[in-house]
Amino acid sequence: MRSSRRKGRRRAGSSEAEFVYVVGPEPNGPSGAQPDKAGEPVGGIGPIVALEGLARDYETPAHTVEALKGIDFSVERGQLVAVRGRSGSGKTTLLNLIGGLDRPTAGTVRIDGSDVTTMDESDLVRLRREKFGFIFQAFGLIPILTAAENVEIPLRMVRAAVNDRKQRVGMLLDMVGLSDRVEHRPHELSGGEQQRVGIARALANNPPLLLADEPTGQLDSRTGRSIMNLIKQLVASEGVTAIVATHDSALIDLADRIVDLRDGEIAADTG
Ligand code: ADP
Ligand code: MG
Repeated sequence: MRSSRRKGRRRAGSSEAEFVYVVGPEPNGPSGAQPDKAGEPVGGIGPIVALEGLARDYETPAHTVEALKGIDFSVERGQLVAVRGRSGSGKTTLLNLIGGLDRPTAGTVRIDGSDVTTMDESDLVRLRREKFGFIFQAFGLIPILTAAENVEIPLRMVRAAVNDRKQRVGMLLDMVGLSDRVEHRPHELSGGEQQRVGIARALANNPPLLLADEPTGQLDSRTGRSIMNLIKQLVASEGVTAIVATHDSALIDLADRIVDLRDGEIAADTG
């Protein structure tokens, strides 16, 4: 799988003999990028995520909710990090801040060395497109589109050429074990299969970081485990980093690192 990933990261119009299927920006960015050597994590130098004093308050008419109370932590490349905590502990708030979907009340978020907290909206849009693959609890597929068309969406957004898109989509669906479900619509797929499509879509533009908020929350325990296993395999084979929020303790033995969130603070971290 790794070799096909490397092919996918060449730009259209390059003179490489191999066929090219992604025209998006290089996922490891123009600064600090390293060549993608087999067996090495994707991206630049230093941690992919670095959080300092990260706090998020929600103001409600009645009171202020301190959802995150000043979190410091960094994520190294090529790891599967589980963020565990019961409902309300701040997992979604944390992932939204890392993914540039929300802004902190205090503190900083650095992604691949860049301070996200000072970026304007258009920079954030670009950052989200280049750096992150989002995986959702409810899969987030478009019901009227086939599996292949759903996976193709991010490739259309970066205006990949049609032949490149088809080839990349085929490769991605194969990677998640769905080459025989390409033309199925979401309602013709099981929950686990829908989440595999969601994972393929998240990987479409070769992001260095996968962010998954309770990706197994709507699946039975066996299917949930196979999805977590798939994410683990992709971390190993594709060199991506994954941060997975879960309240399911049964899955966390698959993680390289476990961060326990409790009431907006890190209560434990296997580091
Ligand atoms: P988790 O994902 O671990 O269940 P969340 O990050 O969703 O936790 O929520 C953390 C805390 O912040 C909870 O107490 C929740 O009620 C509160 N919260 C989350 N979003 C909002 C919001 N938009 N407005 C007010 N409070 C919120
Ligand atoms: Mg949540």
